[in-house]
Amino acid sequence: MNTLTIDAPAKINLFLKVKGKREDGFHEIETLFERISICDKITISKADQNIEISCSNPNVPIDSRNICYKAAQKFFDKTKINGGVKIHIQKNIPVAAGMAGGSTDAAAVIKGLNQLYDNRLLQPELIDIANAIGSDVTFFLYNTAFAIGTERGNVIKPIQEKKIFYHLIVCPDKEVLAKDVYARYKNFSLNLTRKGCIDTIFRPKNGEKINQEEQGSCFFNDLEEAVQKQEPVVREIRNFLYEQGAFKAMVSGSGPSVFGLFKDMGQALKAKDECVKKLSITSDWYISEAETY
Ligand code: ATP
Repeated sequence: MNTLTIDAPAKINLFLKVKGKREDGFHEIETLFERISICDKITISKADQNIEISCSNPNVPIDSRNICYKAAQKFFDKTKINGGVKIHIQKNIPVAAGMAGGSTDAAAVIKGLNQLYDNRLLQPELIDIANAIGSDVTFFLYNTAFAIGTERGNVIKPIQEKKIFYHLIVCPDKEVLAKDVYARYKNFSLNLTRKGCIDTIFRPKNGEKINQEEQGSCFFNDLEEAVQKQEPVVREIRNFLYEQGAFKAMVSGSGPSVFGLFKDMGQALKAKDECVKKLSITSDWYISEAETY
């Protein structure tokens, strides 16, 4: 096998708690990741020497600044394979939106290269590569729709329960860099760890009868205010999603994407229509329904 194509799904953070600043300059967090059905498509082909990248989105760098380049370089370093690779990224995830678009592409490259080269590396070695290139990459190496991420978000504890959430994702035409939002965040530990949230979300007491209000209070993002300060339109989107019936609406990661959680896909699609009609959306906004993937 010389070529393969892999889906690289986006993530959102159902909760994100910022616990403090670490000595290495990163932040200590505790987050609940959810993999969602908005996917980039990564095609990886063996090549003789170089790492060559192409991307359908002209705003994404295709040189060594692309995180896929770093992933491939680390893979070849670790395996000591003297090879090259051509990587094509069909970009569907909005860029710098808080949905880990770059990180999921990098994870797809790590997994794909390992498959093309006879699974030479074991999972812990793949995780080492992921940890070295970005905090959000590691989650995508686990075959799980939900997981708790601690430390930099890179220490992953998968959640086995099956559950499907229905979302509307709205991202205004602003790129927000995670490092700028974290730099603005000062109120460490304002949100206390919500004990029992995982049970409330995944193992409701009344069987399938989920108390959506109770669940809603388990979903939070410590960074939301910092994102809103940078991009006030985020608040407007959030309020609009509530008006459309979302039982929770919040910023994902470091924003500026906002997601609404709806009771079913029909309600999410209705909200999408209303958003297009009533919010002053330009063609550069991203708006899409998505479900747990
Ligand atoms: P996170 O949620 O992990 O903080 P993000 O979704 O906010 O990430 P990305 O879409 O990964 O942000 O983009 C962050 C920056 O990385 C962009 O400015 C972009 O130029 C650069 N970048 C490098 N490689 C990629 C890639 N493969 N896809 C998207 N952006 C990339």
